[in-house]
Amino acid sequence: MSHLRLAPLLACLVLPASLAAAEAVPTAAVAPPADAALPEVPDASDWGAVRDATAGLLASYVRIDTSNPPGDELRAARFVARFLEAQGIEARVYESAPGRGNVCGRLRATAPDGRGAILLLHHLDVVPADPDAWSFPPFSGAIRDGFVYGRGAIDDKGHGAIQLVAFALLARSDAPRARDVVLCATAAEETRGEGVGVDWMLAHHPAALGPPVAVWNEGGGAMRAPPLGDRPVAAIAVSEKRGLWLTLVAEGEGGHGSQPIRDSANRRLVRALARIDRFATPWRVPAPVAETLDRLAGALDFPWSLLSRLARHRIFLRLAGPWIEDVPMAQGFVRDTIALTRLDAGFKHNVIPRRAEASLDVRLLPETDAKVFLAALEEVIDDPNVRIEVPPGELPGRTEPSPWDDELFRAIETETKAEFEDALVLPIMMTAGTDSKFFREIGIPAYGFIPGLLDRELTASIHGLDERIPVAALETGVRVTYRTLGRLVAPSP
Ligand SMILES: [Zn+2]
Repeated sequence: MSHLRLAPLLACLVLPASLAAAEAVPTAAVAPPADAALPEVPDASDWGAVRDATAGLLASYVRIDTSNPPGDELRAARFVARFLEAQGIEARVYESAPGRGNVCGRLRATAPDGRGAILLLHHLDVVPADPDAWSFPPFSGAIRDGFVYGRGAIDDKGHGAIQLVAFALLARSDAPRARDVVLCATAAEETRGEGVGVDWMLAHHPAALGPPVAVWNEGGGAMRAPPLGDRPVAAIAVSEKRGLWLTLVAEGEGGHGSQPIRDSANRRLVRALARIDRFATPWRVPAPVAETLDRLAGALDFPWSLLSRLARHRIFLRLAGPWIEDVPMAQGFVRDTIALTRLDAGFKHNVIPRRAEASLDVRLLPETDAKVFLAALEEVIDDPNVRIEVPPGELPGRTEPSPWDDELFRAIETETKAEFEDALVLPIMMTAGTDSKFFREIGIPAYGFIPGLLDRELTASIHGLDERIPVAALETGVRVTYRTLGRLVAPSP
């Protein structure tokens, strides 16, 4: 079966899934720069200089340690505001909690035609890094051999530096702008908002975010994938699975280990988990996954060339099922998944405890109704003494994918194809989460795409060791972003 050749490509499409696996290590304290250097932004005609300026900006940005926890994003927000103001762009910092903050800058329309604002979004916080394991200190912003190193070099300060420089180039351009463009950098993406990031901005300062008619955020990316040879693949996230972190709590009679109790908390929990282990959540092919496969079909070998075309038909899951069953990565695209991640019960070898707990990391397909899923899970558990605890405010609603015929998607697609010849542009569903969910939930289309060309090794450094981005990818990223924005703000003919 040539499915082995499809696997690396799927791996690329789930690249952002690595975002879910944080490297849980303490961070060494790094003194923040008193006044990080700001590069001069050159003209858009000198791309070599643009590349160097973007690398310099990113190096300074990385040096501001925003490891979350604790985040401490306010300093980074002020840095971004200072950069924007130096370009003559109005900017404001929004302090959402002590030490936490967001920043937005706005380029106003010079020839408004009534169309709504486009929002460029990235996040200020990063996951922690273990300095002992890195080739260069993770908050040094070292530039070596054509790469900028550092925690956040890709996720998401690299993406942020690309947006900031493209935004600055747009501000400099003499071309009339028919609509506003807003750039916001926000806190706490890595910890799902915490009520201080995008969620806080939407609640307290929605107008500062645009309000947008479409959002360009992190998520997908561009790369060359083995099954397609040298052909670049640009994966633009239009949808994502929703995390639901559940705790199962079993309670029962406690006692002495010499006298086993049939319905003890531990035994109830074990029986419930065994039933969940056998629970096969139904398979479905979400619309963006079908679209991804359909667009891939022409580029794949038989039998995937044929199978991919059948993705919208019932027979697809019957034919591809055996393979999907064997590849955990593939399962996430077609079903709600349940991972047992933590067990906690008992305190002494000869004591039967009265309480036992298990953590389940559930990832729901966007169209799954969380309440319906919970009801099904309760039925599977079938034990009133094992309850499911849902963190408050954590019951995700159904979300629609953002349309791939939207003007922002099409503009990114056009400029990506212009930059990367013969690129295959795919709308994708991510199996991990981003701040785009906050916008999709309220019906605002959001697209995840970092436009620099990366490879597998580099994407593996996201949340991992030696995170780094090629300066060449910064340059192409700025060019694609700048030209896409130019297309979107141009007065309609
Ligand atoms: Zn990120």
